Amino acid sequence: MWDTCIVTNQNPDYLLSLFRILPNGVIMSHPKLFIPGPTEVAEEVLIAQTRPMVGHRSQEFADLFYSILSRLKQVLLTDQHVYITASSGTGLQETAVRNAIRPGRKVLNMVAGAFGDRWQKVSAANGKDSVRVDVTWGQPIRPEDMDAHLAAGGFDAVTVVHNETSTGVMSDVGAIARLVREKYPDVLILVDAVSSASGVRIPFDEWGLDMLFTSSQKAFALPPGLAFAAVSDRLLKRAQETPHRGWYFDLLILEKYLSGGRTTPATPAISLLNALDVQLDRILAEGLENRWARHEESMKLVHAWAKDHGFGLFPEPGYESRTVTCVKNTRGVDVPAMLAFAKARGMIIGNGYGKLKNDTFRIAHMGELGPDDLRGLFQTLNAFLAES
Ligand SMILES: *Cc1c(COP(=O)(O)O)cnc(C)c1O
Repeated sequence: MWDTCIVTNQNPDYLLSLFRILPNGVIMSHPKLFIPGPTEVAEEVLIAQTRPMVGHRSQEFADLFYSILSRLKQVLLTDQHVYITASSGTGLQETAVRNAIRPGRKVLNMVAGAFGDRWQKVSAANGKDSVRVDVTWGQPIRPEDMDAHLAAGGFDAVTVVHNETSTGVMSDVGAIARLVREKYPDVLILVDAVSSASGVRIPFDEWGLDMLFTSSQKAFALPPGLAFAAVSDRLLKRAQETPHRGWYFDLLILEKYLSGGRTTPATPAISLLNALDVQLDRILAEGLENRWARHEESMKLVHAWAKDHGFGLFPEPGYESRTVTCVKNTRGVDVPAMLAFAKARGMIIGNGYGKLKNDTFRIAHMGELGPDDLRGLFQTLNAFLAES
């Protein structure tokens, strides 16, 4: 919500999209989120959360839950296992390290940005032996960078971030998986795909990944509070040999309830699952291929805008994220002033992450956002650039 919104220089359709009429008749102003999470949520998805409660041990709820799971498997491109937790994505990151890494064995954490660093923190906090390999920010994680380390032996898993939201870099997880599956068949591949899953094709089964987790509030375009994971048979087997998996995030307990027809061990986030129910139908109605293509088209628009206006791109060419663009401030604009200018016109974009603040800024183009939204944003940013 804002007190005053400056409404010059925008087409009427775009302006109308900044307002929402709630079911109770209240009109709310709505600044559009071009940040990499939480992202825009469609009206019908928001409204689905207002459905009345049902008992979570009822048949009605079980039917909903298993129907959601089968559609989620289609979106995550797996015929193996899918779990949903009432947590943000990081909860499932904890699941990954607690279930995959046995005592006396190690995890290799490839760190190319802030979220790679979280893999290191989470594995250390769970008492797992780890080796951290730092990759220069802006560079992708390359298979050759991990090969020499894995060759030393003693590893149960390698962790990667598919789409490093802090740098706008997307690593080639397919190439990484080819290396690991061929040369290190016992090393599990644990992937943070929080800001890319559903916006980019990540064929979990085809690549032979072991765990891929994501959050509801990024490219899935739901409110925050749910996390989803695809899990391989190989990881479930490994979990049987791994002690101290905890309880809430223990894959074997989650699997026991799920396969026994009892959904989840603890109370699920029913309202968010109602939202997911609607959103999965919307995603599958758009079509996965179309959804991936829309994200790629949006990326190209942002790249062209940046180039046309004297900006660079932070990532190594060829590894730019298809869901969030990290623009290099080669023009030396006052980034906080630009963000404030856009905010006063109902659009929120992201500054650079941590040490990249003001030297970069980020425009997310994931989930509900598409080319029309971006064109509206560019109109506003161009007005700022013309004045500054
Ligand atoms: C947002 C983000 C996270 C953190 O997810 P939460 O849902 O906040 O736990 C982790 N990794 C990446 C790549 C992200 O973009």
